[in-house]
Amino acid sequence: MNVPLSTDVRPTSMHSQPRVPSSRTPTTMVCYGGGEYRRPVVSGNWKLNPMTSGEAKETLKLLAANQRALEESGKDIPEVILFPPYPFIPLASELLEGTTVAIGGQDCSLHDKGAFTGEVSVSQLASLGCNHLLVGHSERRTLFDETDVEVNKKVHLGLNAGLRVMICIGETEDEFNVNLADAVNEIQVKKALAGVTAAQMEDITIAYEPVWAIGTGKVCDAPTAQEVHSAVRRVLDELYPNTGVAGRTRILYGGSVTPESIDVIMREPDVDGVLVGGASLMADKFSRIIDFSSPLLVRSPPRVLVAKEVFKVGHTDGL
Ligand code: PEP
Repeated sequence: MNVPLSTDVRPTSMHSQPRVPSSRTPTTMVCYGGGEYRRPVVSGNWKLNPMTSGEAKETLKLLAANQRALEESGKDIPEVILFPPYPFIPLASELLEGTTVAIGGQDCSLHDKGAFTGEVSVSQLASLGCNHLLVGHSERRTLFDETDVEVNKKVHLGLNAGLRVMICIGETEDEFNVNLADAVNEIQVKKALAGVTAAQMEDITIAYEPVWAIGTGKVCDAPTAQEVHSAVRRVLDELYPNTGVAGRTRILYGGSVTPESIDVIMREPDVDGVLVGGASLMADKFSRIIDFSSPLLVRSPPRVLVAKEVFKVGHTDGL
């Protein structure tokens, strides 16, 4: 159900095309009040957590209960994607069934099949009902030496398997401190998207995750994130001129997002959603983030949370 836009909606230029939450629209754009807008996305990356399927089950049950309540409230809500560890994907699909939460793989093998012990292929992910694939997370790049060339290969593997691909980019603290953020992000975007057509960009989301903000509790301040997102959009415009790609591609922010910081970051016109690590492991926190409040909308304030957390996960241990 759409809710009326407030009167301060910005014009739909490439850099300031506004977002509005929508409910179940399966596309990246949503028609609203006579205009087309990028549909916001809230995604959760569970990484190597939780430790057991029992814990995963408890969190998923709570998340499903929260999500059903939110969807039944008639509020406009963002697209929601959860990236659980591979062994918990079937459990997540089962327990989130009946909600609009989509499931994705946190990474994929560079190989389709064969003698590659420990690997998981895109076709295996797709066959489990995954619609999404996360690639190029900074932990893959730094801890597992993943290169831009490999990220690009994974982008193509995901697209060819019919998955929507979320590409993570982001500079380190040292790079940020010497004003190299835009340069680093430009290179990562261009390399990750090599050979990706304008049509395929409909299935691509970019997640800007400054490495220094991941799992550190340091949230990039909203105006800085806006500047970086706007710069990334300019890169997309350069790569795909006169196609509308730059204006349609969702660019998410990731790095220590919490219920306390979500509303501020989502006020920025080029921040189209978030990728959440630590806070996505706690159903109530993640649900509050999904229920972010938008200045573009006339809507009721975020609801009172209902689920009871059964386990807590610290936020400073690299989650
Ligand atoms: C992430 O790892 O993608 C992330 C954003 O983590 P956190 O929210 O814990 O900083």
